[in-house]
Amino acid sequence: MTDATDAVTTPTPRRKPKPEVTTIGGRPLKPSTLMMGHGYDPALSEGSLKAPIFLTSTFAFENAAAGKRHFEGITGKRAGGAEGLVYSRFNGPNQEILEDRLAIWDGAEDALSFSSGMTAITVLMLAYCAAGDVIVHSGPLYAASEGFVAKVLSKFGVTYVDFPAGAGRAEIDAVLARARAQADSQGGKVAMIYLESPANPTNALVDIEAMSAARDAAFAEDGPPIAIDNTFLGPLWQRPLDHGADIVVYSLTKYVGGHSDLVAGSIAGAKAWMDPVRALRNTMGGICDPNTAWMLLRSLETVELRMERAGQNAAKVCAFLKAHPKVERLGYLGFISDPGQQDIFARHCSGAGSTFSLFIKGGEAEAFRFLDSMKIAKLAVSLGGTETLASLPASMTHLSVPDERKVALGITDNLVRISIGIEDPDDLIADFAQALAKV
Ligand SMILES: *Cc1c(COP(=O)(O)O)cnc(C)c1O
Repeated sequence: MTDATDAVTTPTPRRKPKPEVTTIGGRPLKPSTLMMGHGYDPALSEGSLKAPIFLTSTFAFENAAAGKRHFEGITGKRAGGAEGLVYSRFNGPNQEILEDRLAIWDGAEDALSFSSGMTAITVLMLAYCAAGDVIVHSGPLYAASEGFVAKVLSKFGVTYVDFPAGAGRAEIDAVLARARAQADSQGGKVAMIYLESPANPTNALVDIEAMSAARDAAFAEDGPPIAIDNTFLGPLWQRPLDHGADIVVYSLTKYVGGHSDLVAGSIAGAKAWMDPVRALRNTMGGICDPNTAWMLLRSLETVELRMERAGQNAAKVCAFLKAHPKVERLGYLGFISDPGQQDIFARHCSGAGSTFSLFIKGGEAEAFRFLDSMKIAKLAVSLGGTETLASLPASMTHLSVPDERKVALGITDNLVRISIGIEDPDDLIADFAQALAKV
């Protein structure tokens, strides 16, 4: 039996291998290498090469003093968070390994996993906003994010100011000034700058660097965090934390999960930005479950391979579509015509992604005919999976958007949304060719 004094000085056994190999010959290992083992020590799990799925609601403390110490971390009495496993609403081995590995892709200090992308987004916003506060956001956002700000946060006295993705520095400065005046008049503060880039379904890019500079100019030390939904290009083709964002947000359901077989979300950033969100997640729940976390660990081993292949496939398919007589135009980041957007792309992105808008010549009837003729591509919403998907936003995901807003956002009846998968590219081109021939 150990007495209490001993227990305080005896370090808690850790799940994490320490020290861990993260460099060889002074050269830092790349994320794709670290995905195979980072944050997991087989010796702690009977030598199991892969992490077992830890199906438990609670964790046994090695002694009472350790239990107290862990709760000090959970409740925030002691900085730095929980140093041990406590209860599955707070943490768990599968989730912690997942969070360690997610942080690597974005070069973040810390990450948090959630049961869905929307859980991540809503807990993040609730953690930062109080009555009277203002959220500044780019538009359009993912419909549920926009709805949460406009319809739910408004019930608690939080208002918003939005601006079009693609806005330049002068417009951003004006938006921040307006948000500040609005916050002053409500007795609150500008609590968060929330971006989504590229926007869906327009693919308009937000200038993160310009926003970061504008925020620093408009606010002193206590400026609001810049959060960005990076679901469409991350983690491979855009690293927002390198461009001045503070918090990166994902629907892991899309490219990271990548197989259209799970729903999950995450945020990543400096520990100081994560801590309030972790505290609210501890209270509300919403952490990713162990089984889904395990599936995501498997997904992360191939995320680079899958995204590279999907990106190459999309480039080939778009090159074919661009020259096709039944195609009006493409909204694909590989073919940007606007110089301002091209400049943002060159500074922020390392790839054009595999999700784009295909404008078919004609209207809804022609788009329906095209969609109903596809043989390989499945007719479904969502994106970032191994399989190619196609949908019609005006009639599906954006059906409830008022007509004037659809016009303003360029969501027309002939805009077909495509997410290219990792099939054989020539098979995909053959499928697009035969479906367009039926239009
Ligand atoms: C899908 C998606 C979300 C929501 O994620 P869920 O995992 O479905 O909750 C948020 N943002 C973007 C850009 C998305 O594509």
